[in-house]
Order: sequence, then C-alpha cells, then structure tokens
Amino acid sequence: VSLNSQNGQKEKILVSVRLRPLSDKEKSRSEISDWECINNNTVIFKSTIPERAMFPAAYTFDRVFGYDNTTEQVYEEGAKEVALAVISGINSSIFAYGQTSSGKTYTMSGITEYAVSDIYDYIEKHREREFVLKFSAMEIYNEAVRDLLSADSTPLRLLDDPERGTVVERLTEETLHDWNHFQDLLAICEAQRHIGETSMNEMSSRSHQILRLTIESSAREYSGPDSSSSLAASVNFVDLAGSERASQTLSAGTRLKEGCHINRSLLTLGTVIRKLSKGRSGHVPYRDSKLTRILQNSLGGNARTAIICTMSPARCYVEQSRNTLLFANCAK
Ligand code: ADP
Ligand code: MG
Repeated sequence: VSLNSQNGQKEKILVSVRLRPLSDKEKSRSEISDWECINNNTVIFKSTIPERAMFPAAYTFDRVFGYDNTTEQVYEEGAKEVALAVISGINSSIFAYGQTSSGKTYTMSGITEYAVSDIYDYIEKHREREFVLKFSAMEIYNEAVRDLLSADSTPLRLLDDPERGTVVERLTEETLHDWNHFQDLLAICEAQRHIGETSMNEMSSRSHQILRLTIESSAREYSGPDSSSSLAASVNFVDLAGSERASQTLSAGTRLKEGCHINRSLLTLGTVIRKLSKGRSGHVPYRDSKLTRILQNSLGGNARTAIICTMSPARCYVEQSRNTLLFANCAK
C-alpha cells in the first residue's frame, strides 16, 4: 500500500490487461488475432507483419488475462484486494480503460457484482459490527455530471466541502437494503443511461460512468480501545469513455466541443495517474476535470487504485491496442 504522494513517493497502482476473444463480427470479417498472453504477466504482439517490426514484442503488467480467463478471475486477481479495502476504511477506485468494444462494460459490470457480493458475504460473517451501505451512480458526459438514479437529467454541480472534499450537489444516495435492492438500482442506472441518447453506442462510448458504494461501519459494542470504532470509505467502479477519442482528438486538434470535454476528463485522468505512479512530487492536476475532481479522495494518498485495460486482439485495432498498452505502461 502506497503512502504519501506529496513526498514524491511512488503510488502502487494495480495494473492489468484483459485481452478479449475475437468477436463473431470480427471473425466474420476474417480478422486476425495479433496478440497473445504468454503467461500471467506478459502480453505479446505475435504478428510478423513487417511494418510492425518497430513494436516492442512484449508488455508486462501486474497481471494479464487472456481469452480463457473469466471475469471472476479478473476480479479475483485484478481488483478484489483494491475493492475490499473499502471495508477497512480505505477509499478505492477501479477503472476499465480501453477503446470502445474492447470489453470495458463487460468487465466492469462483472467486477462490480463480484465485489458487492463479497462485501455482503463479509458483512454476513461480521455480526460484531454494524454496516451501512450507500449507493450512488453518475455519468459524466461533455463535462456535465448527471445522476443515474434520478429521472431529472439537469447537470449537477460540484461543490468543495472543507471536510469531505469535492461533493456532487444533490446526487441521490440510496441506502442499500439488500442484494436485490442493489440489483434494482443497477437496472435504474442502466435505464437512465439510455434516455435521451441518439445512439446507445455513441453515448456510452463518450461518457464515463461512476458507480459508488460507500460503506460505514461501527462496532456494535465497545470491544477495546484498538478496534476501530467507526469507519467510512467509498469504492468507485469506473467505466471510462472509449479511449479512441482521446488519441483521435489529440491528433486532429480539439475541434469538437464534445471531443474536447471527453478528453479533458480522460486526459486529465491519464496525467493524474502518471504523476501518481511515477512518484513525481508537486502538483497533481485533480482539479482540471470533473472526473478527477469527483475521484480525488479515491486516487492517490492512502487510496487504492486498480486499472484494467481492455483490448481487442483484432489486427484492425492494432494502433488502438498499442495506445492502450502504452497507457497501461504509464500507470504501473
Ligand atoms: P466496451 O464497454 O469497451 O465498449 P463491451 O463491454 O460492451 O465493450 O464489449 C463489447 C462486446 O464484446 C460485447 O458484446 C461483450 O459481451 C463482448 N465481450 C467483451 N469482453 C469479452 C470477453 N472477455 N469475453 C467474451 N465476450 C466479451
Ligand atoms: Mg461500454
């Protein structure tokens, strides 16, 4: 567990890569799979096409997951310890990063369910403490923050609270009754995400989704001076906008307002993560985007972070896949 980023210390960010199988659509186009996981830590570019000879052949991370790994394995080895730190009062964030259709939502929705299920199991086994779980959900689209648990789509303002840091004003926070209630709320988020979209894919590829679970716990009875009497922390499950836009807009200049904003959050996140992982002392630009402002307390400092970078093995996406690996490399 890392310590103080202010002292220029390196933050330990858990970085994994998940390579999905070729989709049926890709197969029907006779796409070739160019990437392969050769062990638990290394993904290689196995293609021999000469124009790609410049690529480094192997990329190493904390963990890489290949075609035959399940989402449960990705959760167990790439996210669990970070997600469950919340029980001990440590804030955390888990990100899915990658181009559109690389598997971010597939991976993150599974991880979210496994984590919440494990948290319920833990609560079940620790009757000596009383737990309160609160759930909120938001989407950042065009640097506007929207509540995914409310039918009101008016953008929410961010406020600076001297004690709690950045707070999303009027964000719905539901106290969870049980697992079924959690499932119901997920369904509401899903429905909200689809309202007002011109094209579902367009919207989800351009917006960031944050699902936040806050856990408060306290000992039911006084059990000695060293048992932490009360704890509170949040875990954030973040399904990021498609990373293709970041690189596209960078190269094309920032013409579109939308592209510009998407990049503000995604690019700022990249800068923040690079600074934290390289242990550079000095200014971390959390305040430059809505995403990093909202997540500031769950990034850096004592917070734990996991990033799962998802990629398609298809040759047609080789540039995007490489960009994803370069991002992952900067984070580790
Ligand atoms: P993204 O959220 O990055 O745009 P999705 O999670 O929607 O991508 O995945 C795109 C498609 O690929 C979906 O149909 C999804 O079910 C499928 N998919 C993604 N990852 C995997 C995987 N590891 N194994 C099998 N199918 C996957
Ligand atoms: Mg998605």
